[in-house]
Amino acid sequence: MSYDPQNIFAKILRQEIPCKKILENQWALAFHDINPRAPIHALVIPKGAYVSSADFYARARDEEIAGFYRFVGEVVAHLELEAPGYRLLSNCGVNGGQEVPHFHVHIFGGRALGPMLANAG
Ligand code: AMP
Repeated sequence: MSYDPQNIFAKILRQEIPCKKILENQWALAFHDINPRAPIHALVIPKGAYVSSADFYARARDEEIAGFYRFVGEVVAHLELEAPGYRLLSNCGVNGGQEVPHFHVHIFGGRALGPMLANAG
C-alpha cells in the first residue's frame, strides 16, 4: 500500500488542520485523540511518511525508530502515566482496524483499562 499524503495525520503534520498537541520533537508528534476511548487517549505519529508499523520498521532509519519510541516514553512520562500504568496499541491493516493510513501508536490511560480485547471470539 502506498502512502496517501492526503490522510488526516499528514494534514495535521503539515498544520493544515489543527490538533490538541501534547509534545513534539524532531521525530514525532503527540496529540489528543479526537474521539477518546479512555480519560487519557493520546496518539503518537512519526513525522516521516509511513503507512503502517511494518512500513515504519522496514524503511525508517534506526535513529528514527529509536527517536520515535523514546518519544513515546517521553509522552507517557509527560502524561504521568508511568506509575498508574497505561496501554500502548497500534492498529495495523484491515484486521487490526486501522482507520488512518499513517503509522501511529495509541496511548490509553487514566483508569483501569480492563481486558486486552473485548472478546476472544
Ligand atoms: P486507528 O483506528 O488506529 O487508525 O485510529 C485512528 C484514530 O485517529 C482514531 O482513534 C480517531 O479517533 C483518531 N482521529 C481521527 N481524526 C483525528 C483528528 N483530526 N484528530 C485527532 N484524532 C483523530
